[in-house]
Amino acid sequence: MSIAQSSFVSHLEGAIDGSHLEPNVVQTLHEGRPIWVRYDLEAIGQAMDRSDLIGRPSNLWRYKELLPVYDESKIVSFGEGMSPLLKSPRLGAALGLDDLWVKDESQLPTGSFKSRGMAMAVTMANHFGIGSVALPTAGNAGGAAAAYAARAGMSCYVFMPEDTPIINQYEAMAYGAKAYRVNGLINDCGRIVNEGKEVKGWFDLSTLKEPYRIEGKKTMGLELAEQLNWQLPDAIFYPTGGGTGLIGMWKAFQELAALGWLDNETMPKMFSVQSLGCAPIVEAFNKGEKHATPFVNAHSVASGIRVPAAVGDFMILDAVRASGGAAIGVDEDRIGEWMRLGMSREGISICPETGACIGAVEKCLEDGFIDSSDRVVVFNTGAAQKYSEALECVIPSVDKDCPIDWNLI
Ligand SMILES: *Cc1c(COP(=O)(O)O)cnc(C)c1O
Repeated sequence: MSIAQSSFVSHLEGAIDGSHLEPNVVQTLHEGRPIWVRYDLEAIGQAMDRSDLIGRPSNLWRYKELLPVYDESKIVSFGEGMSPLLKSPRLGAALGLDDLWVKDESQLPTGSFKSRGMAMAVTMANHFGIGSVALPTAGNAGGAAAAYAARAGMSCYVFMPEDTPIINQYEAMAYGAKAYRVNGLINDCGRIVNEGKEVKGWFDLSTLKEPYRIEGKKTMGLELAEQLNWQLPDAIFYPTGGGTGLIGMWKAFQELAALGWLDNETMPKMFSVQSLGCAPIVEAFNKGEKHATPFVNAHSVASGIRVPAAVGDFMILDAVRASGGAAIGVDEDRIGEWMRLGMSREGISICPETGACIGAVEKCLEDGFIDSSDRVVVFNTGAAQKYSEALECVIPSVDKDCPIDWNLI
């Protein structure tokens, strides 16, 4: 064994009422709502400084003091994390921004940022000796869960609405999960997982129904801070479904501030982006409400943000409001256009969810929420190639027959 392993987790905390809960035992929800992982930040501050990160492995485990790492031998990993932060001047110029960056999560294992959350949740399940996990998904979470479960030697059950992108269905199967299509919506899939807990004894990996996926996604915020030399940007655009990414990043910034590792005084404005085809958080934000009302007839090609009801709705809204940002809804019909704009200007594999974010940047510039000189970071949460249906709708087909006439090429 390398080092004596002691975790800096101090306790768990119910997000709805702040009550303290026991750490290092299996926890799910508290009062039907998510649970925060809290750390002894003072002890972390005494044990290390940000400069100690230099030279550590270039993946998310470099932040192990700020993660629920109890036993390094239980870590389930593909070396995920430290995705590139790409300066994007051509897309910036097209949008009217001088200092635009894309944090490119499409390069992570299984092609989306879902691998960060699953790395942490499956590691913790492994730590607790859980042999079987299950989740509902309408997009990338199923493939990520299946891959991590395979790596840990666990069995995995995935329940997907019938209109889940076909690649997501294939990948879950190929990684060895028992994957089922459900004639219904994501909440129907959630109900099956919930009922199966009793019958099959599996552990529920659903978004925010266990405490650790947030901690994995938090590492996007830690990386961003480190990559920008501890100087956070002016604005962050993040596509929002269940909200773990945005909630996790905001939590990361608070922890870094408490540690005194940040050089800036002000926090970035957090922009939570949804398609107007499914915009419960945008509606709640505009009405000034604490919780969101389930969105009726939700539809979007951006499957990752087609979440009509989020169990952590109040946590998303709190973060957006505290940051001085906003929840922005964009035209569903233009998502493909924005995807193509990003892909053709920068060569980055932009997912539809991030297409929506590019639209939101455009809107926020017009409305004066951001300025052309602001440093703006857009998260590209997944890879375009996982969305064959969306690509088919938005990309004019390749000319099948190469013309003989050079004037036509
Ligand atoms: C899941 C997903 C989202 C939404 O993420 P949350 O953090 O749950 O809000 C965005 N983009 C992609 C590609 C996703 O797979």
